[in-house]
Amino acid sequence: MAMSSRLGDQGRRPVRSVAAVMLAALLALLAAFGPLPPAAAPPAFAQEAAPTDDLPVFDTHLHYSQDAWGLFSAQDILTLMDQAGVYKALVSSTPDDGTLTLYQLAPDRIIPILRPYRARTDMATWTQDATVLAYVEERLATGVYRGLGEFHLYTGESPNRVPRRFADLSAEYGLFLHAHSDATAVSELLALRSDARILWAHAGMSATPAQIDALLARAPHLWVELALRSDVAPGGRLDPAWADLFARYPDRFMIGTDTWIPSRWPQLPRLMADVRGWLRQLPRDLAERMASGNAEALFGR
Ligand SMILES: [Zn+2]
Repeated sequence: MAMSSRLGDQGRRPVRSVAAVMLAALLALLAAFGPLPPAAAPPAFAQEAAPTDDLPVFDTHLHYSQDAWGLFSAQDILTLMDQAGVYKALVSSTPDDGTLTLYQLAPDRIIPILRPYRARTDMATWTQDATVLAYVEERLATGVYRGLGEFHLYTGESPNRVPRRFADLSAEYGLFLHAHSDATAVSELLALRSDARILWAHAGMSATPAQIDALLARAPHLWVELALRSDVAPGGRLDPAWADLFARYPDRFMIGTDTWIPSRWPQLPRLMADVRGWLRQLPRDLAERMASGNAEALFGR
């Protein structure tokens, strides 16, 4: 109704003089383009630099572990994040000091996640180690952590004492469990408590879109990040099965990089450019959610 009456009004508009029409067009042009551009040409790199401003990324899987400290200062890490267009990140490290150093430098950009690994040797034994639990609970009391992980949890380990307590801590304090587990192991972790929140690292590394779909359908507290999943876009082309999955669960997927070895850090800008390459093949709204919106909804702006 409103539309047709507006059109009707337009139809009754009086015919304007040619001069008035030309003046209106000139004014519209000035309004559209603003004042004249400065004489200097824009810098040649402007076009290449633009993509980092497009689709800024909230990275949900970074580590600043001991082997990187001597190569990249905390300030270097922030500079690499800037170059990659990563404005915010979940960070964990072995030992935890790397995470805290970054957090102290940029508390508005770094969201600390606490690993149960005081040293790499804990990786094999943490699920049954009571001293790991004591360490984790003591650190959690500082209140800076938003999650526990990234930890490696294998099939059959979820009933062990530390993962069981982690599920309780997650449910009680809203902590995210950042789990590097295959589809079977993550379904065992999900079975501990339906109200624990799980951020599934690497989408299970080898889990298929169909397996991920089945888990997402029955677990509303499961979110998925895609670090190291080159099968999402082989050769840069977004795989249709993954694209369908993202569209079916627009609020459950996030971007992650995983700087698990120091050489990943200088690659961050290129890796993020690759990610943007396939994100742009999705509808814009979905790409923005995956790049940043979903992580912001869970962890804040
Ligand atoms: Zn990792």
